[in-house]
Amino acid sequence: MNYYQPEMECASRENMRALQSERLVKTVKHVYENVAYYRKLMDEKGVEPGDIKSIDDLNKLPFLTKSDLRDAYPYGLLALPLADAVRIQSTSGTTGRRVVAFYTQHDIDIWDECCARAIVAAGGSKNDVVHVSYGYGLFTGGPGLNGGSHKVGSLTLPMSSGNTERQLQFMMDLDATILCCTPSYAAFLAENIIQQGLQDKISLKAGIFGAEAWSEEMRHDIENKLNIKAYDIYGLTEISGPGVSFECTEQTGMHVNEDHFIPEIIDPDTGDVLPDGTQGELVFTCISKEAFPLLRYRTRDLCVLTRDECSCGRTLVKMSRITGRTDDMLIIRGVNVFPSQIEAVLMNAGYPANYQIIVDRVNYTDTFEVQVEMTPEMFSDTVKEVEAMEGELLASMRAMLGISPKVTLVAPRSITRSEGKAVRVIDKRKI
Ligand code: ADP
Ligand code: ZN
Repeated sequence: MNYYQPEMECASRENMRALQSERLVKTVKHVYENVAYYRKLMDEKGVEPGDIKSIDDLNKLPFLTKSDLRDAYPYGLLALPLADAVRIQSTSGTTGRRVVAFYTQHDIDIWDECCARAIVAAGGSKNDVVHVSYGYGLFTGGPGLNGGSHKVGSLTLPMSSGNTERQLQFMMDLDATILCCTPSYAAFLAENIIQQGLQDKISLKAGIFGAEAWSEEMRHDIENKLNIKAYDIYGLTEISGPGVSFECTEQTGMHVNEDHFIPEIIDPDTGDVLPDGTQGELVFTCISKEAFPLLRYRTRDLCVLTRDECSCGRTLVKMSRITGRTDDMLIIRGVNVFPSQIEAVLMNAGYPANYQIIVDRVNYTDTFEVQVEMTPEMFSDTVKEVEAMEGELLASMRAMLGISPKVTLVAPRSITRSEGKAVRVIDKRKI
């Protein structure tokens, strides 16, 4: 088995808890002394740094939310003089105003190490050619995997997103072995490779795909089309970027880099901490960062934590795939609908994950349409056959969601592809 930092990735629970406690105590003190915004929250809750003696005291600390980050924008949560920071990154703005995060060189080194762990867990080494098609720039995807690949010593192709023809050319000419991008872009590249008959010219063996939710069915689809192993990777700008957690060869969830980030699962309505194995909102506390160490940050991402032994030998806790974001949940005619549910129906029925959900409000009533792309084979079917397929999809969606969308099958390649995160929902309601 290959590890990048086995002393941390395979530490005993006792040693990990001791390390986490030591780092937590230090970080709380650092934040209390340097971040007026969080000091106020602690004072309001009647908590002092001295009250936090180990990770058992974690739940005494107040939560931070995305709206705190927006309130404190841009410098309000910076824990060091600006002169000590060397980089900013920013969220994609999927759900509103972007927020910024700051890094010292040490923070970047740790982030890169986390991504290096992900690359090694996916079978990467200095002999690999890592093709990074995540966007570079403010988005953390490109810089994160780029830094990780350098740490591993792999040859790094900093492709960034866009220009599919050039991506494919470099992938073939330089024999790229590991592809890093969003799962939706991986599916798009796979489509192009098959359409152009390039399968034999591609040397990929693994993919590290994240930054957006994807299903097990989509994983199988990409793995089959590209003849690779596809690994999930998770992260968010506020906590550092990709590499907060990563999948190993077991492919049953992502190991959290617990020596840097302590995860908790809470009930999103009450804020109560939930036991392992229960689905809820993921919360992270950074314990090794200098410039932007958020404490108990509510990610709004929904998942489950499990501590079962993993066949890879890592002892790091595992988080399940993200089943939704509390903020991507749509409430349509009073019913909660997650795009991931719709995707699961489509993948089960053998459709590619090219779909769009369009919600509007007409005469005070929500309208709900799911547009689904047909494959070229389906497209040649008669109108009657297409109507029958729409009817079948509608029945499966009604069974899954409890409400009925209008299902429309549209021509192959008619839904705009994204080179970064896919745009799944168009909500035209003005409420
Ligand atoms: P934004 O919130 O604007 O999208 P980021 O670009 O920092 O900001 O993206 C972080 C978010 O992306 C996470 O909070 C999560 O919702 C999503 N995400 C990242 N990795 C994954 C993944 N592997 N699976 C599902 N969702 C993910
Ligand atoms: Zn494992």
